[in-house]
Amino acid sequence: MKYISTRGQAPHLSFEEAMLTGLARDGGLYLPETIPTLDKADIAALEGATYEEAAFRIMWPFIGDAFTEDEFRGIIACAYSGFAHDARAPLKQLAPGHFLLELFHGPTLAFKDFAMQLIGQLFEFSLKRSGKRVCIVGATSGDTGSAAIEAFRGLEAVDVFILYPHGRVSEVQRRQMTTPSESNVHALAMTGHFDDCQARVKDMFNDFAFRDAVGLAGVNSINWARVLAQVVYYFTSAVSLGAPHRSVSFTVPTGNFGDIFAGLIAKRMGLPIDRLVVATNQNDILHRCLSTSEYKPDGVSPSISPSMDIQVSSNFERALYYAYDQDGAAVDQLMTELNAGGFSVSQGALQALRENFDSGRCSEDETRATIGRLNKSTGELLCPHGAVAVKVAEEQRTSGTPMITLATAHPAKFPAAVEEASGVHPPLPPHMADLYERSERVTRVENDLAALETLITERTGN
Ligand SMILES: *Cc1c(COP(=O)(O)O)cnc(C)c1O
Repeated sequence: MKYISTRGQAPHLSFEEAMLTGLARDGGLYLPETIPTLDKADIAALEGATYEEAAFRIMWPFIGDAFTEDEFRGIIACAYSGFAHDARAPLKQLAPGHFLLELFHGPTLAFKDFAMQLIGQLFEFSLKRSGKRVCIVGATSGDTGSAAIEAFRGLEAVDVFILYPHGRVSEVQRRQMTTPSESNVHALAMTGHFDDCQARVKDMFNDFAFRDAVGLAGVNSINWARVLAQVVYYFTSAVSLGAPHRSVSFTVPTGNFGDIFAGLIAKRMGLPIDRLVVATNQNDILHRCLSTSEYKPDGVSPSISPSMDIQVSSNFERALYYAYDQDGAAVDQLMTELNAGGFSVSQGALQALRENFDSGRCSEDETRATIGRLNKSTGELLCPHGAVAVKVAEEQRTSGTPMITLATAHPAKFPAAVEEASGVHPPLPPHMADLYERSERVTRVENDLAALETLITERTGN
């Protein structure tokens, strides 16, 4: 299995190489050259399997010869052993035909743990074998950073630097990043928005001298291995509701488009998915693009669902690549236009996108009202991201096809917003109950590429 770049100009890589690299050297994102499929019998046979067993069968065809079957099973078992729910991704009913997929039972209480815990184990295995070191640099709107730090803290061959927008993550998110005491963990609070953090990380990857000197590796949601890990719960949840014998739809609270793109991969692998609904908060660039074809960033307005406060949605590039019939040059052109202010998707490509995706937007008031209403009607306490998706799902549901809405974070990660909306204070689970007493360690940094590179070079001893 070879991996190719969405911009068509980077060397083809193996699974392991694509995983260790993250971003392709032509600025593009890696995708498998062809998508393996599961037939109806393979999908039906997932019924009743453990999450780990399903994960093995779904991901194995993408792995190539990087690991033996037993090694890969061992990696998966370690990755999900720290989850607080035996089902890993349990499905709950909200209303007739409407289901909530709880993806927040991992160690940092957000769906990012599904991918990051797996990636931590994959990196550890691979680096032990090669004797190499890597330096992970990531940008976060809150949840990626905490999940990455949790997955890589204390690992021998890895330094992990996380850039987050100073003052723009929730207190729980911040403390999850600043309280680990391991010396290979570096939390950096940067002046600016998430998009600024993400842009500086991209700049570092495009500075090849720096990239090679420190052994830069990326674990942001552009990393193919993360997308792949997220494909699994689309299958397990759909099979619970009767796939492959009936179709289901999904609504996904969306920022960087990684999670919902995993749904597109599941569909291309043969899972009968009817609609994939992109749910956005007031930062609705994806909803506008799918409605009008115009993709034009116009500034982020901070919301109570901060993990979706994004205007440059990196993984959307992968969806565009398929919508443009895998034309790397066309994608490269769009990304050049984006750097100059925005682009317009061609009519053919827009039609291709709309064959799979619908979209909707949820305002701040609607988000709060949804949290309060669902708590009264079902006892479920949604986090603001899940609430955005539930609201959009309610609007877009069609009768006859079950709707699965992804609940991407635990309400206790966003206690202030949840309590204001519902009157209920969501307590932290027991393993994190002392989070507010632990001491914090963080470095304040400016939005300045040269200064960031110097800091990372010094701290890694390169
Ligand atoms: C990251 C995140 C999202 C957005 O997921 P993308 O893959 O970036 O679209 C939604 N909700 C929560 C809680 C998140 O942490």
